[in-house]
Amino acid sequence: MSANDGIGVSEQVHGYLSALATAIDGLTECDLTGLQDSELTSVMQQVEKSLRRADAVGHRLIVETAERSLPGKLGHKTLNKLLIGVLRISAADASARITAAKSLGTWHALSGQPLPVDLPETATAQRDGDIGADHARAIREVIRKIPHTVSSSDVAVAEEILAELARSATPEDVEKAGHELLAHLNPDGNLTDDKDRKRLRGIRLGRQDQNLTTPISGHLDPEARALLDPILAKWARPGMNNPDDPESPTGAAEHPAVDRDKLAAAAGLDTRTAAQRNHDAVKEALRALLASGVLGSHRGLPATTIITMTLDQLEHATGVATTASGGTLPIRDALKMAERSHPVLVLFDHNGRPLHLGRSKRLATADQRLALIAADRGCTRPGCDAPATMTAVHHVHDWSKGGATDIGALTLGCDGCHALIHDGPGDWKTRTAPKDSEYAGRTQWIPPPHIDPERKPRVNHRHHPKELLERARRKANAHKYADTVSRREQPQRPTGSDGMDEIP
Ligand SMILES: [Zn+2]
Repeated sequence: MSANDGIGVSEQVHGYLSALATAIDGLTECDLTGLQDSELTSVMQQVEKSLRRADAVGHRLIVETAERSLPGKLGHKTLNKLLIGVLRISAADASARITAAKSLGTWHALSGQPLPVDLPETATAQRDGDIGADHARAIREVIRKIPHTVSSSDVAVAEEILAELARSATPEDVEKAGHELLAHLNPDGNLTDDKDRKRLRGIRLGRQDQNLTTPISGHLDPEARALLDPILAKWARPGMNNPDDPESPTGAAEHPAVDRDKLAAAAGLDTRTAAQRNHDAVKEALRALLASGVLGSHRGLPATTIITMTLDQLEHATGVATTASGGTLPIRDALKMAERSHPVLVLFDHNGRPLHLGRSKRLATADQRLALIAADRGCTRPGCDAPATMTAVHHVHDWSKGGATDIGALTLGCDGCHALIHDGPGDWKTRTAPKDSEYAGRTQWIPPPHIDPERKPRVNHRHHPKELLERARRKANAHKYADTVSRREQPQRPTGSDGMDEIP
């Protein structure tokens, strides 16, 4: 519609704004107590959708403000300063909004011609109200990290897949799947190559402050992180090493004896920075600590770094392995760790779960736990990101009601999630996915009605980002197919979305 239609643009915009204000007045003042529980969550979702769509309006306003050089005209040095002055928002907020508008807004050439949107599918998903600012930020971060050697058409496909995924997943899921995607686009894992990792590594101990506490900062390399995680899982557990409780158990490591002469000689040749030496020291200490066996066991397994990878990854020595504590490290580093075998266990993530113990034992054996770590990788409740080290082995069917201690009937769950199932107030149910279902053999969780009125069983994709990517890729392909069909069949309407999911 244009000004020629009889109504000026200004009146039009003011009409929209007053309708928006009326709607918000109504929603602010109406009595929510009359809503059913399920309605309340649905209202929440609809308000969220509108707020997300409103972000897209914000981008339009920023683009328009910038393109007519308003900051200069109004005496603001930059667009940031104009936003801060006009909206009284923080500098951080202003720059976040401008960054978002740059990648999601439709900008124009001097001729007035619209330019291609930086992240077109993400922008569409936001306009649809399906994704929020955090989703968009997660996608932008992944796209930004794609190496320049990757073709622009591959980048476009990656963006499409991530945007499709974001429509049905959390920003954290997008981030995780993004790592997977980056590993796929750069299978050698040299996104930040070995040189970068060597240069970046370091731990900085700050000066003691007034409280006598010391700030610490820096970067651990993936191997160091993978060594550190299981120790934290063990020593930082509630009740362990608590100085306020004399009864609390403590753990300590022994220092190896040091040969002073050798040390003096090595010091003369050492060109590392202090931060790099700190880093290397901690890494070796952790390695020695893990190898010494003083850590004993953690939830029935020796406390150690547990790495999972697929046979395919092993054969090609490319990609990224995951650790039981939720970390990732390049396969090459994982294999290097495995060669020094003592502290590390490498598991191969097959789909099958080979162990069967029936009801002979109440407690899951260490072998079963290892198999579950390889298969489940973490808590199996949909959306929970507790890594395997934070979980215990649970019976999919309550053991007290006859559930077997059989690998096919066991699953990993963190304590919080486990409290939600069986007869607990959370009202979640668990079962093993039937043979003919998409994720056969995995633990399905059936949500209570306030989360999903249809109570559709779902599995947790949080520890299996590849699955999310696969699903998003299928959906993106389906959309493309639908577009082609609708273009070919014009003016008939395109076929419905039913059945589209089956197109590979
Ligand atoms: Zn959990």
